[in-house]
Amino acid sequence: MNEMRYFPREKLATLIAAIKEAGYRVIGPRVEPGQGGLVYCEIAGAEDLPQGLSDEQSPGRYRLVPNGSKRYFAWANTASAIKPYVFVPRERLWSVVRKEGRLHFEPTHGQAEKTAIIGARACDLAALALQDAHFLRGKYVDTYYRARREKLLLVAVNCSHAASTCFCASTGDGPEVSGGYDILLDELDEGFIVRVGSSRGAMLMTDFPTTAATTEQIALACAQGEACRTAQTRRLPDEHLLPRLMQNLESPIWDDIAERCLACGNCTAVCPSCFCHREFDNPALNGKTTEHWRDADSCFSEDHSYLVGEVVREHTRARYRQWMTHKLATWVEQYGRTGCTGCGRCTTWCPAGIDFALEANRLLADEEGAR
Ligand code: SF4
Ligand code: SF4
Repeated sequence: MNEMRYFPREKLATLIAAIKEAGYRVIGPRVEPGQGGLVYCEIAGAEDLPQGLSDEQSPGRYRLVPNGSKRYFAWANTASAIKPYVFVPRERLWSVVRKEGRLHFEPTHGQAEKTAIIGARACDLAALALQDAHFLRGKYVDTYYRARREKLLLVAVNCSHAASTCFCASTGDGPEVSGGYDILLDELDEGFIVRVGSSRGAMLMTDFPTTAATTEQIALACAQGEACRTAQTRRLPDEHLLPRLMQNLESPIWDDIAERCLACGNCTAVCPSCFCHREFDNPALNGKTTEHWRDADSCFSEDHSYLVGEVVREHTRARYRQWMTHKLATWVEQYGRTGCTGCGRCTTWCPAGIDFALEANRLLADEEGAR
């Protein structure tokens, strides 16, 4: 199944058309009008992809710049991850109608549409696997998530360009995709190396014209992956060290971070693996109907730590500490690995430019020094 084939760049439009023909709505990276960043949203075809653009990212900064090439995927990652296509930021879970003195519950099921995502990155697929672990493999399966997940077709693209904020190599999640895709592409100057990773992917590629990838093309793909890995300067500390964050809960570094943090929640909104949410009811004034909704939430919102009559994480220090220690330490106990896949979005999109990997390293060095 993992045979490497090749097709020229202009055939990407044909592949996207074939995916649409198979009944999928196609989501891809696109320059958000008026925003200047890339987001995953519905595309009509290859003409909507960000051809000839690369991203420059640093703490609190994201810019798209022309790169003089014809490549579609010469950028590191998008502002929004693929998360909203499985864990929808706001959705109605059920409604209740009173009819003839009885309550009738009506779940909101069966509305997921076949969705193909073009250009998913290694860090995002790793985060999707984390979300799967939470929503699908826990004691209770989230049927809303599952309905969308089952209809997802993933056309991943290996990274050829790392942003300065990327550190997926240190978490072991990138820059090459290691699994979880239906179709995997490596973009070269003139075309794509393609592999299939599922029977669905294989079916789509059955009649699609490709040639065997040459040794030279394969070597070029390997070299650009390696260049992407070595370009990464940020690193997360080794996973086995991270639980030590829990032994440094009173470090003054938490205060230092809290002085800069605005508690805006941008970091959790852009993080591909964060899944906190809240649920609420929206009753009609006539007393006959009510709706039950779910909203994405954040460690940084005051309400999120409201428990038995009080807010238990009153200050930003406690909220940031909750976020980082859950992501990097207690997540390992829950899911067998950290909740961070090294995409760097939380650092890029933090308006205060708080550098997640740098702060984790500072906290561990501080803990080491205190021993
Ligand atoms: S770390 Fe940055 S993005 Fe996250 S809540 Fe604080 S200011 Fe907002
Ligand atoms: S914690 Fe930051 S770097 Fe890690 S996956 Fe989330 S957004 Fe990406």
